[in-house]
Amino acid sequence: MVSVSKAVAFIAFVGVALVLGWVALLQATQAEASGQTVAVPAPEVPINSIGYQGVEGGYQNHVENVATTIPEELLPALKGLTFVNGCHPWTTSKLGKCALGTFDSAGWDADESVGHKWSNTIWVSTRAVITGTASDVVLHETGHAFVHNFFDDCYFPGQAEKSVKDLLMTYFAHDQAPPAELLADAFVVAYGKDGSTRHTYYLDKFNYGVSDDALAAVRAAVWLCSQ
Ligand SMILES: [Zn+2]
Repeated sequence: MVSVSKAVAFIAFVGVALVLGWVALLQATQAEASGQTVAVPAPEVPINSIGYQGVEGGYQNHVENVATTIPEELLPALKGLTFVNGCHPWTTSKLGKCALGTFDSAGWDADESVGHKWSNTIWVSTRAVITGTASDVVLHETGHAFVHNFFDDCYFPGQAEKSVKDLLMTYFAHDQAPPAELLADAFVVAYGKDGSTRHTYYLDKFNYGVSDDALAAVRAAVWLCSQ
């Protein structure tokens, strides 16, 4: 199980990531919490479309295939975006382990430099593939990408003073959980396949139920802001 201090440190980390204008993260404690150990191949193979060394890469094709199952409404967020099977360098450095998924708009490296060739990427770890959570991880990270690319400069009719992003952040405000992560998990609920067991780390961790109104707001925002 994750200790309280670790959880607090992790939440603080997410706050830092948000301050940096960068959102990512699907933390990966579920496999450990349930006592499963998953063999993750050593990172050695530079197999991915951006040729970045040091990533996993063995499931690159699998990850790209999962990405093709994303609902049509969300596809605008994926324009110009590259999927990478592996461990994002900045996230791995900060967490001390490979995150299940990362969305990186700016190309962050472990030394805090930006502008690297993996800007505008979604990283999906081998562990996400092996544990069967890849499609939900992809939806969560696509949610981050959609928010980043479309919700900042978009306004609901009659709501000119607050962007859709700000309104949704208010909607998902929580005294402990990062609202950006609850919102990204809401994408999994709104756009995941019916009947499957959904991997929604933050909703589960904070026992947060997404209301029908919130789901409607997310869907309306996706439609409106991608017009
Ligand atoms: Zn996230």
